[in-house]
Amino acid sequence: MNGRCPKCGKTNPLPLCRNCGNSSLSAKKILGSFFLECRKCDKSYTYVSCPGCGCDIPARAFANPSLWALAFIVIVVIVLIQWLVR
Ligand SMILES: [Zn+2]
Ligand SMILES: [Zn+2]
Repeated sequence: MNGRCPKCGKTNPLPLCRNCGNSSLSAKKILGSFFLECRKCDKSYTYVSCPGCGCDIPARAFANPSLWALAFIVIVVIVLIQWLVR
């Protein structure tokens, strides 16, 4: 998963946890907001700083949009099939 910086446009890999140095941060969506959560120390981040320019990259940038698009297409197809067989 890569996040694109809104300022300099640089694509960055998921950062290390600033709290414990763990590299397995995972993007999560909770109540419509995105977070990067550390699986080791449970610290969550809403923003991470860009190594290129130092500005804040929202956690949303690290969520995989193609996965959401894929899920949406699957749901549409299922609804269509059910409508057709009725
Ligand atoms: Zn951590
Ligand atoms: Zn940047």
